[in-house]
Amino acid sequence: SPPFIFTLRRLHQPYNSLTESDIQVFSEILGHNPSLLLPASDPIVTAASTDWTGHYGPAPARLLLRPQTTAQVSALLRYCHERRLPIVPQGGKTGLVGGSVPTRAHQEIILQLQQMNQITALDPLMGIVTCQAGVVLQNLQDYCADQGWLVPLDLGAKGTCQIGGNLSTNAGGPYFRKYGSLAGNVLGLEVVLADGRILDYNYRQRNNLKDNTGYKWHQLFLGSEGTLGIITGVTLACAPLPRSKQAAFVACASYNQVLLVLQKARQYLGEILAAMESMDAAIWTLVEASGRHKMPLSAETLRSDSAVLEGGPFFLLIDTHGSNADHDQEKWQTFLEAVQNDILNGVLAQDMKQYQSFWQIRESANPTVAQLGYTYKYDVSLPIAQFQDWIQEMRLERLGPLGRTESSLVNANWGHILDGNLHFNVTTIGEREVQKDLVNALEPYVFHSILKRGGSISAEHGLGQAKNHLLPSVHNEITLDWMRSMKALLDPKMILNPGKFLPVSS
Ligand code: FAD
Repeated sequence: SPPFIFTLRRLHQPYNSLTESDIQVFSEILGHNPSLLLPASDPIVTAASTDWTGHYGPAPARLLLRPQTTAQVSALLRYCHERRLPIVPQGGKTGLVGGSVPTRAHQEIILQLQQMNQITALDPLMGIVTCQAGVVLQNLQDYCADQGWLVPLDLGAKGTCQIGGNLSTNAGGPYFRKYGSLAGNVLGLEVVLADGRILDYNYRQRNNLKDNTGYKWHQLFLGSEGTLGIITGVTLACAPLPRSKQAAFVACASYNQVLLVLQKARQYLGEILAAMESMDAAIWTLVEASGRHKMPLSAETLRSDSAVLEGGPFFLLIDTHGSNADHDQEKWQTFLEAVQNDILNGVLAQDMKQYQSFWQIRESANPTVAQLGYTYKYDVSLPIAQFQDWIQEMRLERLGPLGRTESSLVNANWGHILDGNLHFNVTTIGEREVQKDLVNALEPYVFHSILKRGGSISAEHGLGQAKNHLLPSVHNEITLDWMRSMKALLDPKMILNPGKFLPVSS
């Protein structure tokens, strides 16, 4: 069809090489400040060219730019558009699919948003916060919490990731069910298009929870991973800060019991249930073995023959957000009584320090496997009832035949079970390089079986350069063509994050 042919031709046009006069122009736009323009040879640029997982990069970048204002982003993009120079936007670089680093094929200019880190307004009555894209999530959370508001997003990388990166990946996290998707809480957005034009959706002028005066075009930029525009500012709806928080870790012998606990948590904890996170025996054991955390339960003492047979023990972190500690306490009591025959053991946090330490255990899952070796990561959605069945299928039919020993290959899984979101991880201990035979054994089968079961091959991490090739197996040709048309309309010279999100051949 015509748009497809158009896009294809554009993509195959080569980008221009970076010249001394390009660098002069960039330097002028950035006020001749050397800390805002770093040459490719700078070690900071090399570090910025490798992603968090270490799987992607370092691919050479042409340059690194750090604009401080929307006007500077606009001027830089206008120039890159004219000169046809490729750009990769970079937030906190915690993305897990290689989206925010340059590719070997294009050696993009890295455009970091870290200098745009101002929180510009918080309406204390409405709980509406406005900030620039480079604000670190934790800083935004702390700022809002000081004034009684909760940013409706939390994740393990909060100390590093930026709200602009979160928006560009439409990040999920554990509180998705309680507070809704990040995209659903965006009230206003400022975006710089590839040609430098600045789009403003209720960002500078308005501060409303409700507005139905136009197309909701801003949603197109959420989760589009920097391929349609650069997000420079956002207005977000916050939730009232919970006055009472409580958490418990419980262990179950079988996955059926996990499902019973989940159902009862919904029934008995009701509206205060904020998150439920799962960790299987393998990841629990690895975190325990790392020695970095005081574990409230020990996998070893809970490991019985029947639990092992069932794939357990399984650990659940259950978190509640409420407004009255006594009321919540009562709910917890009835819940714990209701599940006493479904769990092996459980520990209720005694204070906020322990509450936080419980979350640190769960959040250390990712860094723990990252340190052990090369991890093949699959972030999938599935009907909750099927999690363990699918994992067993993968273990028996895919991992078993590889004949690797337990000391050389570990399958450790965790996830946001309340959302039906599982993080399935296969780590080859001590290895740092990808093994093609392992990819071939796992990948087609993982994605095929997930799609067959009606799941999603990327629940919250996005596509980047790790999963973009799979788009054609997820969406039909009409949808793909529409996506290509959007890309061609908003970024006709294909300068924004080439090689990511959309399949490379399109
Ligand atoms: P980056 O990694 O820098 O960029 C991500 C993508 O967005 C790239 O394509 C980049 O080009 C683009 N981008 C960045 N900023 C902009 C901008 N301003 N405008 C346009 N495009 C931009 N993810 C979840 O969803 N849920 C989790 O629970 C979760 N837990 C994690 C735990 C750990 C320990 C780690 C390391 C990662 C986790 N992630 C999780 C993944 C990651 O943190 C998220 O994808 C996060 O939203 C990325 O934000 P960032 O600022 O690091 O973006």
